[in-house]
Amino acid sequence: MAADQTGNVVPPSLSAKEVGSFAYLTVRDRLPTILTKVVDTIHRNKNKFFEEYGEEGIQAEKQTISLLSKLRNELQTDKPILALNDGLADADSWNQYLLRQQGFQGDQEAVSWFKSPWLFVECYMYRKIQEALWLNPPISDYDVFSESKTQSFFESQQAMMTLCTYLEGINKNLGDISEHHLQELFNKLLQVSLWGNKCDLSISAGKENSQKSSPIDSLVSLQPFILVDHSAAVWSTLISARRQRQLGKAGSNRVDVVLDNAGFELVTDLVLADFLVSSGLAREVRFFGKSFPWFVSDVTANDFHWTIRQITAANHKWMSQVGVRWQSYMKEGVWSYHDHPFWTQPHEFCDMATDAPDLYATLQEANLVLFKGDLNYRKLAGDRDWDHTVCFEAALRGFEPSPLCSLRSLKANIQVGLQPGQGSKLGFQDPDWMTSGKYAVIQFYSPNSEQ
Ligand code: MG
Repeated sequence: MAADQTGNVVPPSLSAKEVGSFAYLTVRDRLPTILTKVVDTIHRNKNKFFEEYGEEGIQAEKQTISLLSKLRNELQTDKPILALNDGLADADSWNQYLLRQQGFQGDQEAVSWFKSPWLFVECYMYRKIQEALWLNPPISDYDVFSESKTQSFFESQQAMMTLCTYLEGINKNLGDISEHHLQELFNKLLQVSLWGNKCDLSISAGKENSQKSSPIDSLVSLQPFILVDHSAAVWSTLISARRQRQLGKAGSNRVDVVLDNAGFELVTDLVLADFLVSSGLAREVRFFGKSFPWFVSDVTANDFHWTIRQITAANHKWMSQVGVRWQSYMKEGVWSYHDHPFWTQPHEFCDMATDAPDLYATLQEANLVLFKGDLNYRKLAGDRDWDHTVCFEAALRGFEPSPLCSLRSLKANIQVGLQPGQGSKLGFQDPDWMTSGKYAVIQFYSPNSEQ
């Protein structure tokens, strides 16, 4: 066990070498598969680059593919991880982090693909894809994952229509419902956003798509798969902020949402945010996304604005009505989209106060910060080999800008805050429980009170 900056004893980061066959296979097989798909996508778009940029576009396509093929070879043969040299604004920060890894591992062992923390190498690969494109104008801004994100959006149209129709039904009657009923609606839309994180995978796979059924009707049958449910504490945080405001007390009443995936999940997040504003549980919602294409389906500024435009342009009465309102929220500043280099770096969130103090200060202004998805969870808890019964607060290791909640379906080998015996029982019943996306958590922590 190692100690962190605060002197607390923490388990080691999960690495390809240490966690056994799952991560080993993941590093060896999943990352090269993604790189191969990226190369295919760029190659398939050769004619498009030619039409847009002529011969220069073709040259850029060839050189980008050459860099990515070299990267894939380095990964597969466990070569040392090299410092970034592309002159982008975040390169120094990345290189400092790499030096930190070398410090942890000692001089004798090179920081290579299989011998490094899994979180670091996975993030590094996406940053290197960005480097390969950036070094090859005029295709520097090309989003290699755009096709799959767009496909995911269009494949879940029916579920989005159902959700928008449900939302408009709620909004019509919000004026005179009890606080108890409001809480029930909140719980439903929180869970829709939670399971939106699971549904992304099934939608992308394009078969046995659970979104053919109503995302609202599925909630009851999914309830037993929520392993930790702190939704009552999340509700209590929001309703007390609303009460304070109704009493004329000052307060920002802001909810921040640190997004995960584009497609159906993003729409579920926007629907939840719409409900928070229309019910008065929040006056302002800030969305945080990625500044370049990341982990295949993560939301970038383009994805965010494109999605709202698509919803507005939909040939469906309630969907387009919802989209028009979202456009006006954006225009009036009730909603806003932000990115920050920290979200596309490998740092654990306990480093944020030191390494990105401006972002930490921004999150401190929120009444509640929602962290969507698996990667955010890995960064919250540091992607470490925690015992499942370690409490969420301990795994956060001092990251407490505001009350926060993770909405995550489990897709990686990390989970804290379970009851004694809960993890081993799940492991016995369902050996893939940590990685199948079948289970989920609504896990809350507030620096202001006991859980
Ligand atoms: Mg993602």
